[in-house]
Amino acid sequence: MSSPEPAQPRYLAPPEPTSPARGQLLMAAPRRGKPPRHLADLTLPERMAAVAELGEKPFRGRQLSVHYFERLAALDPDSAQQLTDLPAGSRQSLVEALLPRLIHPVRELVCDGGATVKTVWRLFDGALVESVLMRYPDRATVCVSSQAGCGMNCPFCATGQAGLTRNLSTAEIVEQVRSAARSMAHSGLTGAGAGSGGEAGTEAGAGADRGRPLGEAQAEAGAPGRGATVAGGRVSNVVFMGMGEALANYKAAVGAIRRLTDPAPEGLGLSARGITMSTVGLVPAIDRLAAEGIPVTLALSLHAPDDELRDELVPVNTRWKVGEALDAARRYFDQTGRRVSIEYALIRDINDQEWRADRLGKLLTARGRGWVHVNPIPLNPTPGSKWTASDPRVQNAFVERLRAHGVPTTVRDTRGQEIDGACGQLAALDSAGPERSNRRT
Ligand code: SAH
Repeated sequence: MSSPEPAQPRYLAPPEPTSPARGQLLMAAPRRGKPPRHLADLTLPERMAAVAELGEKPFRGRQLSVHYFERLAALDPDSAQQLTDLPAGSRQSLVEALLPRLIHPVRELVCDGGATVKTVWRLFDGALVESVLMRYPDRATVCVSSQAGCGMNCPFCATGQAGLTRNLSTAEIVEQVRSAARSMAHSGLTGAGAGSGGEAGTEAGAGADRGRPLGEAQAEAGAPGRGATVAGGRVSNVVFMGMGEALANYKAAVGAIRRLTDPAPEGLGLSARGITMSTVGLVPAIDRLAAEGIPVTLALSLHAPDDELRDELVPVNTRWKVGEALDAARRYFDQTGRRVSIEYALIRDINDQEWRADRLGKLLTARGRGWVHVNPIPLNPTPGSKWTASDPRVQNAFVERLRAHGVPTTVRDTRGQEIDGACGQLAALDSAGPERSNRRT
């Protein structure tokens, strides 16, 4: 049950998160040591200035950016010598100064025949976060974490239960996407490939170690031979639906969005349309995001149409009520033209009544038509919670009620359940020790 880890580098003891009391919100992350500066934290002019400070020609900043964002090269101090367009004597120092290794893969869990891969990352200070890469026939989506833990304390979400450790930096978020992009570009299907899904599921049921510890080299090499089938492919979508409330880490999250959407080599050159920012409904931050001029999709985690229940399910509702959150969502649509998603985890006998669907339908259509759609999500089980997903018939009735109001409604496909990689299941428990085996029993 032990999980051998790479001997290098050595890690600090993980920072202890603050466990929240019921309903308690942590809007500001604890102040902790910052991760080292990284190229992906900087704009292209800032990179050129940083390179100049090291006594190099400014255009070296652009060359590094091409390697990082365009070629998706292996970039760490060990592979610096492969950057043959840089002067041999400068390669090491440039990489060490601007491309420190920020995220170290410690475990990878695979399901859906290799199409869904969850990676547990250890950050420079020992904090753990997770990202999930989901491959579909026509697209590939990466679900990224924006904080280690979360301060929003939603009682049905595994991440919320452990509290908030710290904010991620822009580069720590971008690194999760670049890593997925590298997997896509270099090996097609990452992970163990077809056939491993059933195995992972069986192990999950037994509460055993369901992941494979990763050697650093294996992970960074794009893992040739790990069941690669289709070579090539790109990340098309990024969703801020991993650990954390990204809008509570506003500057870093928007910095990451800029790096993801800036054209190469300044950034990854993804389309803003493919990026979804999910929020509990931090109203001032929604308005601020609308004014940024980057038309990402907004997803509002509503989960209840009435304040009484939403106060319980999404404690931030005690600050900004259902009506205020929906008004902000509508303003977001007006400003960006992007149709807003309403997230609604269907929890058996808690929020899945037809009258609640009616109430939601009325609240949405009262604010106009064509501006919103609803994504019901069958609740994913989390450890220790007595709540479960709605009965499929109840779910269908809920969907039909919403459609009867003319509200487009699509049930969200939940990938990665058996590897605790689905919505609300990310808790970054790295060990296969007792706390792991207590889960999902
Ligand atoms: N902090 C952001 C991102 C969280 S995760 C937010 O709250 O929007 C993305 C989505 O998964 C949110 O809508 C969240 O409410 C939902 N979610 C959390 N726990 C869940 C669970 N156990 N089952 C299904 N969806 C869940």
